[in-house]
Amino acid sequence: MKSDKFLSSFLSLTAFIVSLLILSSATAYASASDGASSFIIVPVWVHVHTNFKGDGGSESIPKIVDYLKSKGYGGVILTPHSARLTFKDFKTEAEKYDASDFAVIAGREVIASKDEGDDDGIVMCHINAVSGIPDPPVLDHKYEAGQRDALIADLKKENAVYIWNHPWACKQWSPSPELFDGIEFFNDIQSVDNYNAEKGFYINALKKGAHPFVVSGIDMHSLVQATIGEFTTYILPDEFNSASMVKALRNGNTIAAFNAKLFKISERPSNTIRNAAGNEFSIKGTLGLKVGLGPKASMIVYKNGEVFTPKNPVTFERGEKLQKGYVTYNFSFGDKIEPGAASCYVFEIPQYVVSSPYCYTAK
Ligand SMILES: [Zn+2]
Ligand SMILES: [Zn+2]
Repeated sequence: MKSDKFLSSFLSLTAFIVSLLILSSATAYASASDGASSFIIVPVWVHVHTNFKGDGGSESIPKIVDYLKSKGYGGVILTPHSARLTFKDFKTEAEKYDASDFAVIAGREVIASKDEGDDDGIVMCHINAVSGIPDPPVLDHKYEAGQRDALIADLKKENAVYIWNHPWACKQWSPSPELFDGIEFFNDIQSVDNYNAEKGFYINALKKGAHPFVVSGIDMHSLVQATIGEFTTYILPDEFNSASMVKALRNGNTIAAFNAKLFKISERPSNTIRNAAGNEFSIKGTLGLKVGLGPKASMIVYKNGEVFTPKNPVTFERGEKLQKGYVTYNFSFGDKIEPGAASCYVFEIPQYVVSSPYCYTAK
């Protein structure tokens, strides 16, 4: 009996140590509570190609994972070109690296063009999808860009969450940005025109009453691209695991960043329309920007796609240094919500940070 007791106390001690380890890896990321729920802030790479046979990247999955861990990231969404690989095999391989301290999510990039040689880098109508089923069908080259709605119908059938990639390279989809769950930013940040084009599409979706989420897409094929700058999508899930991160993506709990860090935020964006307690809301946060590399930093808030000048002014002020290489800014904005109305707010620091919408209503 004594040994049983020893064994059980040994097991509970082991469980305790394991839970401590899990906790300590999760608490490496900032956490917050927005009243309704608590969440963590996890920096990830979205839109990543690998050297898995059939995809076009030059790096292996473990090399990418090690690199990202060394830079403080907590996850990656891999998006192979899926026409020439068996997705189920890719997913099995990717999930070998999905662990308690780093999330690996297997998505795929779908090309809407029947001509395999049609992508000239000028017109690229592509979608990144994280499927809701383990073995989704090949959708690449099944449709022309003009058959977007049929492609989206297929993606809905597999309960995928889907993102319009490099929107500036597929202007023919621009009249209907509201059809996508998410919109990619910063892919090809070298062009301010491209940034302004994708922002215009996002703003139009908001004006139409849609509330797509945003991601920062690196479109990584080689780790050399990491020297261009930091393409960081902040996912704000309930818990630190890949399932919770996919759920957060579906819920629009994201902030897209380029050469910027999100240190703190009081509430996470969400595509669920929330009830504003006391008929008002207020968001506070702290960001770090690598301003030496980009334009002067300023903050714009949009309400339903229109530039918003709130009664309580937007604050955006330099703060105490928190991390070498980044200038700290503290910000806040808020509004009173009219009963019955539903309004969605987005904040932007042009060319550095774009938030997914915050949507509220009041009783
Ligand atoms: Zn693409
Ligand atoms: Zn790609």
